[in-house]
Amino acid sequence: MSIAADFTSSLTWTDGPAGYTGVEATPQWAEEVRRLAAARNATILAHNYQLPAIQDIADHTGDSLALSRIAAEADADEIIFCGVHFMAETAKILSPDKRVMIPDARAGCSLADSITADDLRAWKAEFPDAVVVSYVNTTAEVKGLTDICCTSSNAVDVVASIDPGRDVLFLPDQFLGAHVRRLTGRDNIHIWAGECHVHAGINGDELAEQAQAHPDADLFIHPECGCATSALYLAGEGAVPAEKVKILSTGGMLDAARETKASQVLVATEIGMLHQLRKAAPGVDFQPVNGRASCPYMKMITPAALLRCLVTGRDEVEVDPAVAARARASVEKMIAIGNPGSGE
Ligand code: SF4
Repeated sequence: MSIAADFTSSLTWTDGPAGYTGVEATPQWAEEVRRLAAARNATILAHNYQLPAIQDIADHTGDSLALSRIAAEADADEIIFCGVHFMAETAKILSPDKRVMIPDARAGCSLADSITADDLRAWKAEFPDAVVVSYVNTTAEVKGLTDICCTSSNAVDVVASIDPGRDVLFLPDQFLGAHVRRLTGRDNIHIWAGECHVHAGINGDELAEQAQAHPDADLFIHPECGCATSALYLAGEGAVPAEKVKILSTGGMLDAARETKASQVLVATEIGMLHQLRKAAPGVDFQPVNGRASCPYMKMITPAALLRCLVTGRDEVEVDPAVAARARASVEKMIAIGNPGSGE
């Protein structure tokens, strides 16, 4: 009997422009999700920015690269990737023999969409001898045109590993690029002017206001945030003590949460991250720098979408094998340089 024929629950979903809705995260839903995942021999992975109910039902939570590496090692026939499309593609690139699904293929990413494969081909034609370094928030096709991938943890190490005489094309995030340029001191790094609309919305003014209102709090800042530069500036000016400002990937935030001595931490990244931070350090008061910084694409992976995925086996993520092989090489080169830690 197929999984769909076996599904006799009263839970039903409806489709709409903002995604699949109509199912609440009740105990009955959780039981159905677990039963269906076991019947499919599927592993459920959830990104740190997912809705709390999706994070709590998943077999593993984490950042995009850590989850893709878990996908490759999982003893499962199928991977259900609760995140955005480029992340599920990365899981497929690293697990070509597994069936990878995303509960709603319309869950995109404004940062990954800020550069297409054609844009990159044209940019490379302008700088034919340059080394291309791409952040993991890129499509499989863009990764396939990349020399070395990077995450926010190792972007500085990756760029520092490149011959100082070679030009570097860094994409797609301008804030992470500025952070890398500042720390490496290179003047031959060309930066694509892409941005994530959610992270760019967290600005320096808000950060300064919050830092002044909470002088004893630590500041955890993701380098994709528009405020990363202002945070370093504020620290340099003595407006906030430098030791309080921590520029961290999402995985680094969890480690820092377990170690902090502060009773309050201001967090500058997508607000889904607060759920994992509060679980990691329940005694610390984590507050968002901008409570409106919620990614609408991440939030398309609703309880209804996950149930639909498990019942129907959709949406499957496919990557052309030749593109996947080239993209895998750029990811493996990054892993060989070391400290891939985490990306978004
Ligand atoms: S938070 Fe920004 S970078 Fe992350 S998935 Fe959403 S749009 Fe993309």
